[in-house]
Amino acid sequence: MRDHTFRNRGTVPDMNRADQAVIHGLELVGLVRDTGLDDITLFINNRTRADLEALTVALAAMVPIDQAPSELLAWCDPDAQRRERARRHRILRAAEVRRVLRPHGTHAAYARHKNDGTTPCDLCVAAERTYQRDRKRRVRAEQLRAASVMSDTVDGMQVAS
Ligand SMILES: [Zn+2]
Repeated sequence: MRDHTFRNRGTVPDMNRADQAVIHGLELVGLVRDTGLDDITLFINNRTRADLEALTVALAAMVPIDQAPSELLAWCDPDAQRRERARRHRILRAAEVRRVLRPHGTHAAYARHKNDGTTPCDLCVAAERTYQRDRKRRVRAEQLRAASVMSDTVDGMQVAS
């Protein structure tokens, strides 16, 4: 009788049934992830066909469609898990290497002193002085070059007129 009522409503199930399907679906998700075939078989055998249909639709509705099946199934693929661990390990290693590559006596190490709130050591103070001097020279050279281009352009315009 209940199935008849359900069918007459078309494809929209009543909320109770949909909620129940989601809960049963998540229960099955837990069994698939954490237990074995015996528990999964028991769960399926204790459901009516209507329940199984409803939770199939609920589970399908919860699958993100913008991800490849390989991504969605990565949790149960030992190779994918190993690759993911290796990838994270590489990222961590790269971060360590970057830290190692910025010793005292560099602009980066001076900035690190400032960020950490520690007094810059002599090496870093000297390196920062050199860095800032070179930076100001670069800026001045750039300003001169821009002024020269401007002046050439103005001269060119005066000749043309
Ligand atoms: Zn330092």
